[in-house]
Amino acid sequence: MKITNKYNLPAALVNAMMRDDYSKGPSEYSVTGLLTPPKVALLREQYDDQIEIDVSDKMFTFLGTALHTVMESTVMPHNCTFEERLHTQIDGTSISGAIDVQERGIFGTTIWDYKVTSVWSVINEKSEWVEQLNMYKWLVEALKGERVVGLKICAFLRDWSTNNRGGNYPESSIVMVDIPMWTATETEAFIMARVNAHRKAKMARDFGEELPPCSDKERWMSETTFAVKREGRKTAIRVLTDIEEAKEMAVKEKGYVETRLGEPRRCTGNYCQVNQWCGQYQKSTQQ
Ligand code: SF4
Repeated sequence: MKITNKYNLPAALVNAMMRDDYSKGPSEYSVTGLLTPPKVALLREQYDDQIEIDVSDKMFTFLGTALHTVMESTVMPHNCTFEERLHTQIDGTSISGAIDVQERGIFGTTIWDYKVTSVWSVINEKSEWVEQLNMYKWLVEALKGERVVGLKICAFLRDWSTNNRGGNYPESSIVMVDIPMWTATETEAFIMARVNAHRKAKMARDFGEELPPCSDKERWMSETTFAVKREGRKTAIRVLTDIEEAKEMAVKEKGYVETRLGEPRRCTGNYCQVNQWCGQYQKSTQQ
């Protein structure tokens, strides 16, 4: 991966931001690697020497790493284990997961993960968090024989503001989010599905076939909406998700319906870093 410095940030800062201590150890997949869409993982591997990232785009990753470094150097209570990587095998594939905090209590262990994230992420449940933490739960229960009684995200909200209050808006800039727990059977089935999806993609690559496409969920596809508008008015009267409801309202309001197509935000924002080599995305831009 090539790192650029388009905004001439000072060398000391750039060096700090380029530091990368991440390692999945000797395992074939990390928990987060299993959650990465197989197509994204393989395209990143293939074009690693051509992917360009500006150091300024690494800000949130840097803040997350800095947070982990500070927490790691802090003396933890005796009933907590910090940053432990657990390894196991499932159906002949080695996987591992690095758990931020395991806090042992009378009734069992609570697992926490730190995230530097947006307010939006805690208002709407993120399925990736549920999947990630349940895989950690599965590892702890299977390898350490401990009973896991809670899963929590400790969310540091980078865009939290005192001006927004009420409703679902988080009360403070740091919040603990409870994550629903799965049974071991559910998690094992989920892990096997992820391992198989990655295996299938690797086989396609090795046989020179097209990689399995990213799903709408993996592409972060937003919903298609229907704006009810009227000539001479700049803003929509209402934006609805049901076309029939929108048409009905347009008749009442003597207006018209404007369709706003959903957008694959991971692709269009190049959050996967490989959209220029992705046939699926390139084809969609030509339609
Ligand atoms: S551009 Fe979209 S479809 Fe292509 S690899 Fe990235 S996320 Fe997947």
